[in-house]
Amino acid sequence: MNITIKKFFILSALLLLSIYAILIFYIIELDKINASLQSLQNSSFKMSQKADELRQSSDDLTRFARTYVITADPLYKTQYFTILDIRNGKAKRPFEYEGIYWDLLEPKRSQLHPQNDPISLEVEMKLLPYTEYEFSRLKEAENQSNKLVNLEVQAFNAMIGLYIDDKGNYTLHKEANQDLAISLLHSEQYHLAKQSIMLPINYFLSSLSKRITQDTQELQEKTRQLFKKIFALIALDFFLFLLTMYVISKKVLSPISKITTMITKIKQKKEIYKSKFYKDEIGFMAEEFYTMHERIQDDHKKLQDLANIDELTGIYNRRFFFDVSNKILKSAYRNDQKVSLLIFDIDNFKSINDSYGHQIGDSVLQHLVGTISARLRQGDVFARYGGDEFVILLQDTNLEVAFEISKSLCKTVKDKVFAYDKLVHIPISISAGVSEYRHPYTDLKSLIKSADIGLHQAKREGRNRVVQN
Ligand code: GH3
Ligand code: MG
Repeated sequence: MNITIKKFFILSALLLLSIYAILIFYIIELDKINASLQSLQNSSFKMSQKADELRQSSDDLTRFARTYVITADPLYKTQYFTILDIRNGKAKRPFEYEGIYWDLLEPKRSQLHPQNDPISLEVEMKLLPYTEYEFSRLKEAENQSNKLVNLEVQAFNAMIGLYIDDKGNYTLHKEANQDLAISLLHSEQYHLAKQSIMLPINYFLSSLSKRITQDTQELQEKTRQLFKKIFALIALDFFLFLLTMYVISKKVLSPISKITTMITKIKQKKEIYKSKFYKDEIGFMAEEFYTMHERIQDDHKKLQDLANIDELTGIYNRRFFFDVSNKILKSAYRNDQKVSLLIFDIDNFKSINDSYGHQIGDSVLQHLVGTISARLRQGDVFARYGGDEFVILLQDTNLEVAFEISKSLCKTVKDKVFAYDKLVHIPISISAGVSEYRHPYTDLKSLIKSADIGLHQAKREGRNRVVQN
């Protein structure tokens, strides 16, 4: 999951585009197959129609030939030859001739089937997509039908007393013989000839039906395969959609929620912990955010130090001393602990400044702070109260102990002479006042005031001493 969000979206967009391109290709293929199926159906219908027309024309020829020899009405003979002429492209072909035509009587026939240009059945058949086998079967049927015409013409001529000579021409004139004509058109020879017309049509029909069924099945199988592929692509597309949702939730929404929690905690001034993020854009942003927060915190601490620490001596200033000490006093009150306060001031500091200069005076202040700090315990709060005056809050310390500590500090300061340039030695001493916190009646200000009274008394009594109050 360490892939960047940008990379993920580029990859999924490419994949999606490919899926849609393939889908469009498959849909075009489906459309083509559908068009092929339709054209197969159309052509198969037309091909059957033409075969049917051939069969119908043969039957119509038989019907009109037989009707003529029975009725001797020349209309049927004329219609017989018209059928042949239309089939051979010598007479105009009626519109929709393959429909019901010869069973209709005039004028209905001409109304429904106005005449078109002449075109032979063979030419019409050549325009259709027959296989070679199918075409040859139909051609064979037509040839057989044309052969039967000879027998029918023989019957027609018998009706008018014309008979065939040795050379096969109708030159012999005898008595008309209607019975012969009728028997010729109902003979076994006639029926056999009729069968030789219909048999190829039968073969044609079963071949065409087999081929169309097979072609249709192949196209349907192709359609099924395409649908399977399309469904697979749609499933892949759906999977990609779910994956994208998952990635958005994992890599975008969840990290944003983590960052929001971090910001809320910062707002509430609570501590924040570094969460784990993926190594992607939001992860880098969170990392940068965390680093920025750390820097701001550092800067904030520096600013706080500047506000809380005395610049010259490096110990707490008076303001921060009040903050810290108030909290200590509250805790001491809750835990019933003793707390004492020591306030001290350098003796005759003005004269040090006057004699050695202000800068040396500053060094003396730093020297004093160093000397005292080295003697303090952890938990003692040491601060510069102002000028040459300092305070120490001694935790868990009663007045007696505080008094002893103060005396010891006075002695240490006195003993540790400030040396300047190794040649100038400046002896320093401090005077101090000590008091104890007696809760709940004493607050910090009263405690300081009480110790301050001790300090003033120490000054009055000759300095370099401690007075408890
Ligand atoms: P006392 O024994 O009564 O305390 O006499 P003193 O001379 O020390 O008088 P006081 O404490 O009233 O005077 C404090 C002097 O400390 C006054 C001021 O010039 C000096 N002082 C205050 N702050 C500084 C500082 O930061 N540096 C230096 N060098 N001197 C300071
Ligand atoms: Mg002083």
